[in-house]
Amino acid sequence: MAAALFFPGCNLRCPWCQNRELVLAGQAGSLENAVSRVQGLVSLEDALAHIRKRLSVLGGVVISGGEPTLYRGLAPLIGEIKSLGLPVKLDTNGLTPLILEKLFANETTRPSYIALDLKLPPERYGELLPQKTVTIEKDAFNAGEALVRSALLIRESGIAREYRTLALPGDYLRPEELTALAPLVDGGPWYFRTFVPGNCLESAWDDLSAPGAEKAELLAEKARLLGKQGISR
Ligand code: SF4
Repeated sequence: MAAALFFPGCNLRCPWCQNRELVLAGQAGSLENAVSRVQGLVSLEDALAHIRKRLSVLGGVVISGGEPTLYRGLAPLIGEIKSLGLPVKLDTNGLTPLILEKLFANETTRPSYIALDLKLPPERYGELLPQKTVTIEKDAFNAGEALVRSALLIRESGIAREYRTLALPGDYLRPEELTALAPLVDGGPWYFRTFVPGNCLESAWDDLSAPGAEKAELLAEKARLLGKQGISR
C-alpha cells in the first residue's frame, strides 16, 4: 500500500490531461499560496503527518502531480520520506533534467523508482507547451530535447523505472511514431493505457470517444516489435 502526494502545477498543458484542477492550481504560484487559495489541497505538513501516522501499513510513497519536480522543496521532501524508511516513486514528464540530475547525485534524494511519461515523439512536444512557458530551467527551453536528456539520465542512474504512454483517440499518436520514442526506452516496462474522456484540460477532448483497449494493445505490440517490453493495461 502506498500513499500518493499530488503536487499542483505543470509545465505542460496536455489537452487530454484529467488533472485539470491540479494543473491550473499551479498558477497560484508557490505551494503555500496554492494550498491557501485552492480548495481540496492540503499542506505538506498535514500530508507528512498523515504518512507518519500510517507508517506501519505503508509500503512506500508516490510523488506525482501535476509535475512534482517543479516543487522547489522536492529534494528535502524525498530525503525526509526516505528517512522514515519508505521508498519513493517519482512520476515525471521528464522536462526538468537539471532537477533530476541533482536528485540522482545524492543517495538521500535519489528516488527509489521512476515513472517517465512519454506522450508524443520528442519533436512534437512543442504542441503540449503552455503559450507562455515559465520554466525553472536556466537555458532556452526545448521540451523535446529536455525529455531526451531526462530519459538518458534515468537510464544511467540505474534506478528502477517504467515508461508510460497514453493511447490517444484517432491518429493523435500513430503506432509508427513510437519509433521516435523507442530510443528513450530501455529494458524497463513500457505501459500503454487508454485515454478516457472526462474533465479534460481542453474541454473539446471530453467529446472524443475513448479509443478502446485494442488501441493500447496495438501500441504495446508495436513497442514489442521495436524490442521493448510493451504492456497494455
Ligand atoms: S504532464 Fe501530466 S499533469 Fe501535466 S498537463 Fe500533461 S498530463 Fe497533465
